[in-house]
Amino acid sequence: MARPRKRRRVEVRRVPRSDGHLPEYDRSAVPEGLATRRQLREMGLSPGGHDPVAVLRCKLCATRPQWSCGHPTRGFLFRVDLARPKRTPTLAQEWALDRAMAARSTCPRCRRRYHFCLPLRTQGVCDPCDKGYEPSPDTYTHSPVPVDHRLAA
Ligand SMILES: [Zn+2]
Ligand SMILES: [Zn+2]
Repeated sequence: MARPRKRRRVEVRRVPRSDGHLPEYDRSAVPEGLATRRQLREMGLSPGGHDPVAVLRCKLCATRPQWSCGHPTRGFLFRVDLARPKRTPTLAQEWALDRAMAARSTCPRCRRRYHFCLPLRTQGVCDPCDKGYEPSPDTYTHSPVPVDHRLAA
């Protein structure tokens, strides 16, 4: 017995352009001084926390100038004068990162630092220590690096 099919009503919610919260611009008509996130990144900038000031309409919308763009390919436009230079990691951050990497690639038993992360969480030591063989010398650095905090087994 076939049930009568319910007609699914597709609701099309379209907001007239004037109702949008942000002004919208077509790709060919972006005012001077506004840029997308990607364009900012290419300039070595980031929005720096300020909210987008306008919507960059997608190509699809070029044919429907009266509707606001709710399409996923639209972008947001930011003010270039409010953008900030992208933060580069400080030396301290790089050290912290290196220490974290060292902790993950150094065996607590033999103190060898390998060129890859060790299964410390499951095995606790490097493979050669666990299985009892001599590691090939090209898999670790020869100067052992002291690790200040050991991972709990
Ligand atoms: Zn659109
Ligand atoms: Zn080891």
